[in-house]
Amino acid sequence: MQTPSICELVSVWEWGLTKHPVQRALKLLTTAFPQTPLDTLAQLSIGQRDAYLLTLRELVFGPKLVSLASCPHCGERLELAFDVADIMVEGMHLLPEPKLQETFSVDVGDCQVQFRLPNSLDIADLVSHNNIADSEQFLLERCVLAVHNHCKQTTDELRADIPSIRDAIVRHMAEVDPQADMQFNLVCPSCNHQWQVLFDILLFFWQEIDAWAYRILREVHTLASAYGWHEADILGMNPHRRQFYLQLITSKN
Ligand SMILES: [Zn+2]
Repeated sequence: MQTPSICELVSVWEWGLTKHPVQRALKLLTTAFPQTPLDTLAQLSIGQRDAYLLTLRELVFGPKLVSLASCPHCGERLELAFDVADIMVEGMHLLPEPKLQETFSVDVGDCQVQFRLPNSLDIADLVSHNNIADSEQFLLERCVLAVHNHCKQTTDELRADIPSIRDAIVRHMAEVDPQADMQFNLVCPSCNHQWQVLFDILLFFWQEIDAWAYRILREVHTLASAYGWHEADILGMNPHRRQFYLQLITSKN
């Protein structure tokens, strides 16, 4: 995995301003794995994709994460401070280079179900059908590859089994792709209310990139105005040296 340069990250941010979060995720991964075909990255399971995004976030901004949550009972604002390691499922941090995903099999009653895990292409397709009433069923119909049942033969009959064994398939998918569901147990210090919040690494990482890009472009503006340097030269500058010049401008004013 490669750490993107400041110039690359600014370019990804600019490109991603008008894109859907799923496309942003894939663009970020292409900077981290420039040798890996986009199609392979798009077919990573959501858990694998998010593990890579967590690792990339650690490379770009470090291991500490700070987020905010509001108590749904009394509205108290909580600050959540944690490390990437706290939410990374064991072993996911050491994932090898991305490769095409595998298929799985689970026995449910009389049926044997073969399935693959939902990936970014499935989510993108789900988003493009914005009036889907049952998103879980939509994903299952894409991800269940075959249902084997000794008593039934036709494809339609086999497909008709999916709703009755749906919970078992979803449960098994979660077991083999645990990184796809990052949840925190929270307790409100004011009213003791307990609840769970979902941590969305893509949303979190993109908000950080957005704030960082605005800050770095303001710095470019300040330095370019003072010294007449080109944007590419300022972005390519060592961050310590850039801060040094910014401090000189501030102290002069
Ligand atoms: Zn509360």
